[in-house]
Amino acid sequence: MSSTIQVTRHVVCIPFPAQGHINPMLKLAKLLHNKGIYITFVNTEFNHKRLIKSRGVDSVKGLPDFQFHTIPDGLPPSDVDSTQDIDSLCFSTKKNCGAPFRNLLTKLDETPDIPRVTCVVSDGHMSFTLAVAKEFGLPEYLFWTTSACGFMGYLHYRHLLEKGLILHKDEGCRTIGFLETVVDIPGFDNIRLMDFPAFARITDPNDKMIEYILGETENATKASGIILNTFDELENEVVEAMRSGNLSLPPLFTLGALHILIDQIQQTDELKSVGSNLWKEEPECLRWLNTKEPNSVVYVNFGSITVMTTQQLIEFAWGLANSKQTFLWVIRPDLVQQDSAKLPIEFLEETKERSLFPNWCPQEEVLNHPAIGGFLTHCGWNSTLESIYGGVPMICWPFFAEQQTNCRYACKHWGIGMEIDNNVKRDEVEELVKELMEGDKGKEMKSKAMVWKRKGMEAVAPGGSSYVNLNKIVDEILHASS
Ligand code: UDP
Repeated sequence: MSSTIQVTRHVVCIPFPAQGHINPMLKLAKLLHNKGIYITFVNTEFNHKRLIKSRGVDSVKGLPDFQFHTIPDGLPPSDVDSTQDIDSLCFSTKKNCGAPFRNLLTKLDETPDIPRVTCVVSDGHMSFTLAVAKEFGLPEYLFWTTSACGFMGYLHYRHLLEKGLILHKDEGCRTIGFLETVVDIPGFDNIRLMDFPAFARITDPNDKMIEYILGETENATKASGIILNTFDELENEVVEAMRSGNLSLPPLFTLGALHILIDQIQQTDELKSVGSNLWKEEPECLRWLNTKEPNSVVYVNFGSITVMTTQQLIEFAWGLANSKQTFLWVIRPDLVQQDSAKLPIEFLEETKERSLFPNWCPQEEVLNHPAIGGFLTHCGWNSTLESIYGGVPMICWPFFAEQQTNCRYACKHWGIGMEIDNNVKRDEVEELVKELMEGDKGKEMKSKAMVWKRKGMEAVAPGGSSYVNLNKIVDEILHASS
């Protein structure tokens, strides 16, 4: 590719404004930048402020050819240091962000000394950007930051609706076992109603989330391409079904795992300092892990959105204590609903020699640390993929969105997970944690996780599927006429 083409390309990357979306989008943006493309990265004003608070102003200062811009999210102003309500964010961004996004593109095109915008890469949940990109004559790729199986679940909400299978949560199982009904969908092997992304279990018959998902998935068909952070071999059947043409999807670029692809490029210190953590990382947990034996620590982290009740927190706590294992438990300040996460004093006393409780940690590094033997997780897709690439088996406690689908795949398809009941009880936690760390099933899961790790590494190595797909999409972006 000629250098003249490279300097004239300008991609605007716009993530959905939540941690699990900003992280992979920033990695993708850095990878595109590494190929000689000018990047504008768009955060919401709310998250921009949080990034400055957690990482300092340097993290959003940008580089001459990697700029940050902000747009308002349309929600009432707030200074809280916690995740915004996801449903409200979905509706608000869809309704309110189109106009500021359009203004931003106009402003960028009028800015001297930078290339005109040539392409938009937008989160799949920010598909209002499609209409704007079209007005500007720009190609747009939609990045669904879910697993392929999770995305497949969303793509079939219409099917569920038509078959009368969108569930009223309180109906539970309309008849006993209803949630276990297997839905026959090519490529989605043995998928039960309960494994679909959880928005399909509604509490209000007029639930707007279903409508929102239907809109976003229908818009997916209008993009120039879909990007997923997964690798072909991991989700082979689902990916094949998506590429078969039956779902009317545009070309699919599987680029997982982005956090490994990014490790393969030379990042300058300036680019490295561009980060996306909305909470302040506590790197001392890595030093603490350095003092532990290989495979001896249970890592517990429920991501950036999960909230639980005080009772659930206490059940997890005593389950961990009674397992007698050493653990690193990340407790976000807003982990417990309407309360601060307070652990019982007796529990803290009993486990003080074998526990650490940071608020937020550098998770990718933690999951790659040899001391980590297992991961008690909510099955967010980034966490699941990071666990796979760490070769770490999991206990799954899915909370919402497509975490239920990820859990199903981890437990049944990949053989690297054990599910814990949503109504968590300390005895089950104790039993599963012991099994994970010391039992035969735990050993079997560990060896499968290592196999997936190896396959995952092959996908990002030169010639591997994700490596090749990255070059393909870069090539399209470099040569797109706009
Ligand atoms: N994360 C982190 N430190 C933490 C907790 C989470 O760096 O203490 C990162 C994690 O590595 C992942 C993201 O935050 O990239 C969480 O995304 P995920 O999809 O797993 O879950 P979500 O937060 O969206 O529920």
